[in-house]
Amino acid sequence: MTDGGFFSLLRARFPMEAPCLTIPGGPVWTYAMIDALSARIAGALLACGARPGDRVAVQVEKSAQNVALYLAALRTGLVYVPLNTAYTDEEVAFFLTDAEPAVFICAPEREDAFRPAARAAGTKAIMTLDADGRGTLIDCAEDNIPYTNIEPRAEDDTAVILYTSGTTGRSKGTVLTQRNLASNALALHEIWGFRPGDALLHALPIFHIHGLFVALHTAMLNGAEIIFLPAFDVAAVRENLKRATVMMGVPTFYARLLADPDFGAEDCAGVRLFVSGSAPLSPETFKAFEARTGHRILERYGMSEAGMIASNPLDGARIPGTVGFALPDVYVRITDETGVMLPPGEPGNVEVKGPNVFAGYWRQPEKTKEAFRGPWFVTGDIGALDEEGRLSLVGRAKDLVIAGGYNIYPAEIEQILDAIPGVAESAVIGVPHPDMGEGVVAVLAPQTGAPRPDDAALAAALERLARFKRPRRFFWIDALPRNAMGKVQKQALRERFKDAFA
Ligand code: ATP
Ligand code: MG
Repeated sequence: MTDGGFFSLLRARFPMEAPCLTIPGGPVWTYAMIDALSARIAGALLACGARPGDRVAVQVEKSAQNVALYLAALRTGLVYVPLNTAYTDEEVAFFLTDAEPAVFICAPEREDAFRPAARAAGTKAIMTLDADGRGTLIDCAEDNIPYTNIEPRAEDDTAVILYTSGTTGRSKGTVLTQRNLASNALALHEIWGFRPGDALLHALPIFHIHGLFVALHTAMLNGAEIIFLPAFDVAAVRENLKRATVMMGVPTFYARLLADPDFGAEDCAGVRLFVSGSAPLSPETFKAFEARTGHRILERYGMSEAGMIASNPLDGARIPGTVGFALPDVYVRITDETGVMLPPGEPGNVEVKGPNVFAGYWRQPEKTKEAFRGPWFVTGDIGALDEEGRLSLVGRAKDLVIAGGYNIYPAEIEQILDAIPGVAESAVIGVPHPDMGEGVVAVLAPQTGAPRPDDAALAAALERLARFKRPRRFFWIDALPRNAMGKVQKQALRERFKDAFA
């Protein structure tokens, strides 16, 4: 990496006059335009008194200006802190208190509500940016001298603090270095075979690792055109997929495309690669997508703390229900509770080591210490490696159910329940049981318009499982509780159904 850290690596690859962000129905932003805007915004951030190492927290709608703002932070050595747009005032107040940003950029209509929390956190300036890319940030950028330099950065300097999704508890800030971003971006660019002429369809949010790092970094390293949609919309995706060669999505994107009966192979004629991640891609969705389009979705696995960890191969078998092989320079091992490595096939703690692994949790030395076993980061996920080194995930350590001394992995049971006609989705949890320690409970959400299966039908489907794994209680609710990232919140379910065996 050169002196200017990750930004100079990216910028050296910018084909300045080529399209960078194409907004359907809107303007085309060339790399030169995005670069120039990032220099202008950098000027505005510095004019507010922010200095390298200071945080700039950002909660705004997706726009080209938001991308330029991210690049501006990298360019000036400011630490970028993206926040989910779904976070409430109270949640944002927590992140401001925790991150103490020098500058905070938010939606114009929320500025007043955030002012007291920002002031209390020592923020020097609040500026705004709306979904159309207008706001006081842009006004300020126009009034100030552009900062066209690139601030020198060392490999260990912090680039981003990315908050985890808060699926298993309160969100934690993960401190990501210049090396973390660069190593992961280069590895993915390489293994996914990015090439001249690639165009990426981008319908993900850009406050999260998937849309911000995995998608933008790989495309920008490639100098590729990014077809930039404000959000995922089936009609817009189908329309723009015609010009794309690569699409990245969360599993629900694929499920929603499949729910459109007209979606098919013609829509994907120019696409060479569909990538899925952030949550498990069900084998049903994988198979249905292949049957409909001829494409085998490439599933990969990662997390805020370690960027991408494993990926199915570009060339070679992509196996549903697995997340593939460790990335180049990344090592994955499976251990038991005492840290002893387990043989192939046996599920245990997924631990990871490599240039992708974060520097620690922001201002949480104790949590950081707990998360490492020597150089190995303990991910909190449970998985198994096969003889060839292919990783399969079976769930999160915190969601493991231990009933009568047996380990029960919810994912296996959920896959069976999800496949039953009339079941839209399911969550299997463990709750206190007087004899067994924990008892297995299934929480189910019905498919709209389909008859609801009775307990006998559920029990029949579950007969292929060992008796100790079978849920003893079934509860129907309208929809599973999800957090702002769309992840099922099992803690909330465990709380709600804690008396199931009382
Ligand atoms: P928190 O750490 O705050 O509880 P979180 O773990 O959901 O929240 P993220 O870092 O956004 O926060 O998500 C990473 C997690 O997402 C991984 O630990 C893993 O459990 C899950 N995940 C990511 N990709 C996949 C995948 N392909 N299959 C299954 N799970 C995945
Ligand atoms: Mg996590």
